[in-house]
Amino acid sequence: MPSVPFKLVGTLALAIALPFAATACGGGGDSSKIVIGTKYDQPGLGQKKPDGTMSGFDVDVAKYVANELGYPEDKIEWKEAPSPQRETLIQNGQVEYIVGTYSITDARKEKVDFAGPYLLTGQSLLVRADNNDITGAASLENNKKLCSVSGSTPAQNIKDKYPKVQLQQFDTYSACVDALKNGVIDAVTTDEVILAGFAAQSPGTFKIVGDTFSEERYGIGLKKGDTELRKKINDALEKMESSGAWKEAFERNLGPAGIQTPAPPAVDR
Ligand code: GLU
Repeated sequence: MPSVPFKLVGTLALAIALPFAATACGGGGDSSKIVIGTKYDQPGLGQKKPDGTMSGFDVDVAKYVANELGYPEDKIEWKEAPSPQRETLIQNGQVEYIVGTYSITDARKEKVDFAGPYLLTGQSLLVRADNNDITGAASLENNKKLCSVSGSTPAQNIKDKYPKVQLQQFDTYSACVDALKNGVIDAVTTDEVILAGFAAQSPGTFKIVGDTFSEERYGIGLKKGDTELRKKINDALEKMESSGAWKEAFERNLGPAGIQTPAPPAVDR
């Protein structure tokens, strides 16, 4: 092989490496942008509207944090983060962080870190408005079909605590809610705030039954070991909470779903 001058080798190596250097901060090579993961199909929390705009409480939290990190709204690139893909998206550096009804759990903490919590909720059940025989999780063992999402804590909780329930796992809660509407399944389980958002979107169609039967603490998922980013996000969350922006965002997004505005939780330092 003919010898190639050192400088040329260096330039070639750079030219080859650069296209792969795009990280979550430079999605597509534009380093002035930040890529944030959220849900696209959860009304009141994270929803992509037909016109392409994003709305919801998680979206507002994500935007507030991004702004504190130096990325105003026009510098945000959104990426859909379905429940089963969240850890992978973070581990692969495809997103800088995820704000997407993402519960802090010990199992997930093996793979990613969490800032927050920024919201507390609990698992519940959604049924059709005219249903009268589903009253709580135990009543589902009576040959009912339950839908939840793979990779979610509510699905795991049902498998652990109510193994006799016929659980069907879809990719998204909106798919579960469509199946509920069509009579294909009898109930949907996930966090109460998510169910309330869907119920509010179709008034008179669904109802939430029973008490919550888990504690879900929503965190902002980020790369494991990035203590600097975690601290900055926690600072931003505290500012959002103390300034009143948190309460305002909650009321705007989840007030119409009939949820009383709770006190924001203290972040774990
Ligand atoms: N908060 C639960 C979880 O993180 C359920 C909601 C979801 O799947 O996004 O798994």
